[in-house]
Amino acid sequence: MTPSQEIWVFAEQENGELKSVALELLGRARELADELGVEVGALLLGSDVLDLSRTLTNYGADKVYLADHPELKQYRTLPYAKVIDRTVQAHHPQIVLFGATMIGRDLAPRIASQLVTGLTADCTDLQIGNYLDPFTGVDHQNLLYQIRPAFGGNVIATIVAPNHRPQMATVREGVMKTPETTTGRVAKIVKAPAEFTDAELAVEIIEHYRKPKSVDLRAARIIVSGGAGVGGKEGFDLIRELAHVIGGEVGASRAAVDAGYIGKDHQVGQTGTTVRPVLYIACGISGAVQHRVGMQESAKIIAINLDSDAPIFSVAHYSIVGDLYKVVPLMIQAYKNK
Ligand SMILES: Cc1cc2nc3c(=O)[nH]c(=O)nc-3n(C[C@H](O)[C@H](O)[C@H](O)COP(=O)(O)OP(=O)(O)OC[C@H]3O[C@@H](n4cnc5c(N)ncnc54)[C@H](O)[C@@H]3O)c2cc1C
Repeated sequence: MTPSQEIWVFAEQENGELKSVALELLGRARELADELGVEVGALLLGSDVLDLSRTLTNYGADKVYLADHPELKQYRTLPYAKVIDRTVQAHHPQIVLFGATMIGRDLAPRIASQLVTGLTADCTDLQIGNYLDPFTGVDHQNLLYQIRPAFGGNVIATIVAPNHRPQMATVREGVMKTPETTTGRVAKIVKAPAEFTDAELAVEIIEHYRKPKSVDLRAARIIVSGGAGVGGKEGFDLIRELAHVIGGEVGASRAAVDAGYIGKDHQVGQTGTTVRPVLYIACGISGAVQHRVGMQESAKIIAINLDSDAPIFSVAHYSIVGDLYKVVPLMIQAYKNK
């Protein structure tokens, strides 16, 4: 079969609800596909999930590869990997994208290994570009640039897979913008094979329990974050007070989390949550790249730091050089006084 050249997105769903990262990826896939003049396919696996293809279509899919089977109701590695592996081998998309969720992180490496191709994990950007191989002299056109921080965040690496297909990547939740929906689009539904051996169904899910998160940073419109500069657990009371007064949630840098000032659910950044609120206030945060990649898309950023050279100021819209213990109480007072 001739390769379809399509760009595919794994449309992760749970209990019939699509994960937001699937829609974010569809938006980016649509842009990349338009640049290349190819179609976007959504890989939808589950039980009784046909209705979701309408949503996927509205968010940019031209085709929905649908595997609807009772054994796919809850995620299990082997059945899901088999369906995707077979479907990719039947249609040869040039790019397959997954959310860097628990499921995406389990599934994507297994599929990449089965297909003997590469995988870049935790991308923060995806683009199309060319690559001149310095060893072979081959000029590869229109490759997927898989972009992510590397070497502890000291460089932003652009990774390509010139010789293997499909090009595969996982992308952090919240990094790409959710696209606007378009009505009136029509997508083709393509049936994906769903047949399993007893061995592939050996794992039985008896109970499913998810520990509730103490904070939903992704949904927050305002976030006040504290870093190591807060200096202690008690210091976070001030951060909480500002967040409370302006109706926001509390975020933190990894240094603050690692120091035990606040719980991990509050961490913003590469290994925490990626956020894009309307207002992000960074207090005593230096702005290491691993923090910035998780918040720099916020609509307005206010940074408070003693050090005028702190990297956080490079992404801030309003820079306040000063002691957070002087500035934050003034902000609280100002908000209280309206
Ligand atoms: C693989 C990897 C993943 C990572 N993931 C993340 C991540 O997800 N999120 C994350 O945040 N980090 C992450 N990091 C860590 C990151 O590199 C930084 O170490 C961390 O972000 C630093 O946190 P910080 O800015 O709070 O602390 P510091 O870098 O110590 O900065 C403290 C800042 O507070 C300022 N300050 C001190 N006192 C005051 C005061 N009274 N008033 C105002 N300012 C004051 C200082 O000038 C300084 O700029 C990761 C690192 C690695 C290697």
